[in-house]
Amino acid sequence: MLRLYNTMTRNVDDFATIEPRQVSLYTCGLTVYNYAHIGNLRTYIFEDILKRILRRCGYDVNHVMNITDVGHLVSDADDGEDKMELGARREGKTAWQIAEFYQGAFVNDLHRLNIIEPDIWCKATDHIQEQIDLVRKLEQKGFTYITDDGVYFDTSKLDDYGKLARLDIEGLQAGARIEMAPGKKNPTDFALWKLSPADQQRQMEWDSPWGAGFPGWHIECSAMGIRYLGEHVDIHCGGVDHIAVHHTNEIAQAEAALGHEWVRWWIHGEFLIFPQGRTGEEAKMSKSSGEFITLDTLTERGYEPLVYRYFCFNAHYRQQLAFTWDGMDAAKAAVARLKRAVLDLRSQYTGDDQPIARWVAQFDEAAEDDLNAPRCLAAMWGAIKDTAPKGEIYATLLEMDAVLGFGFEKMQEEALPIPATEIEKRIADRNAAREAKDFVTADQIRQELAQMGIELMDSAEGTTWQKK
Ligand code: AMP
Ligand code: ZN
Repeated sequence: MLRLYNTMTRNVDDFATIEPRQVSLYTCGLTVYNYAHIGNLRTYIFEDILKRILRRCGYDVNHVMNITDVGHLVSDADDGEDKMELGARREGKTAWQIAEFYQGAFVNDLHRLNIIEPDIWCKATDHIQEQIDLVRKLEQKGFTYITDDGVYFDTSKLDDYGKLARLDIEGLQAGARIEMAPGKKNPTDFALWKLSPADQQRQMEWDSPWGAGFPGWHIECSAMGIRYLGEHVDIHCGGVDHIAVHHTNEIAQAEAALGHEWVRWWIHGEFLIFPQGRTGEEAKMSKSSGEFITLDTLTERGYEPLVYRYFCFNAHYRQQLAFTWDGMDAAKAAVARLKRAVLDLRSQYTGDDQPIARWVAQFDEAAEDDLNAPRCLAAMWGAIKDTAPKGEIYATLLEMDAVLGFGFEKMQEEALPIPATEIEKRIADRNAAREAKDFVTADQIRQELAQMGIELMDSAEGTTWQKK
């Protein structure tokens, strides 16, 4: 029985779907004005684990992820520069070029981390009409007002505004009056459509019933979520920073437009943090501070992407994870041990071996207990250390890999200097030489393999091999 934490209920609840055996899943994608940092990637790894567990539990998952390529402003308060234009200025390119480049880099990062791609990718700039239509609907229903710089959502019109974050609306009203942007009626109101500045030509702008401009950031996810997944959605995910503003506003505008609950499960991943932040305090990783580590930073320092995936499994997704280079070294050593074990076990696998039920059950129980990744890893290592026949342990690991996504089957080829079939062929040549009493050739083959790091072990049952 799958149990998941729902930010809306603040509880770990028994998972249930709207349609039997089907899950509609929306995950907020990257704002493509720069590379994804490893904090962003932690969130996408958590969402990948969630999706893999849903599939393992027998659900057919329809996964949509957006790409934010317009309208995400530097400040949550609906002002400041558009991050896309910021990126364009930084690199002397157009906002469109920036979006295309960093979207490609993002998809590449997902591949390198063995993250399964969504079924549908959707870009904000490809869905401007849907966003305008949604704003019009809100306008017709009386949820909006117009200021000098755009169309705003009036949060005071909703009784349950802020329910996801359990916002203290009265406290916010009292506290934020002074800093409120001109024309805003309530501090929590947010832009649905921003008008282009009169004195400036924006790179990305579109005609609308309210004048030339661009969509507010939040409206894209509601418009595309409804377009691709419908008026009733099972799960919506993101990092915890999305709870108070982005998802709160998505819920407000979607539910105001639809007139009913939109998403059943809101699931959020905790942050990757830096214990030795720039200020000496705990600092979250953010792109806008300009100080961030990418997957390329890690590979340049000798940590393959898989090591970072493993590193993320060390913490439950609802716990903050502190990034340290010592932690990465430990993950690197663990992955090296894991590879050696997998190669050894794999060499004994017949294809007919059955997984060990006890370990699979322990693993699934951990996975279904609100995605307890550290306990999943413990079950994996428990199985590896079992004294059962190696082929059975390998079969067990293959089951677990459906969730772990470490790619045990691929691991062998990547880690070996020559394909396994070639090693087997040379072992057969060596056996033939030994039978013909040609010990010189036999020894030569052993030495050649040893130079490549492949060790042969002779026993009564025949010759096996492992990578040293
Ligand atoms: P953004 O590109 O800012 O829209 O962020 C993309 C995703 O990364 C969102 O789901 C964020 O909630 C998430 N995110 C941002 N910073 C971090 C962090 N330090 N750790 C984990 N997730 C993060
Ligand atoms: Zn979103």
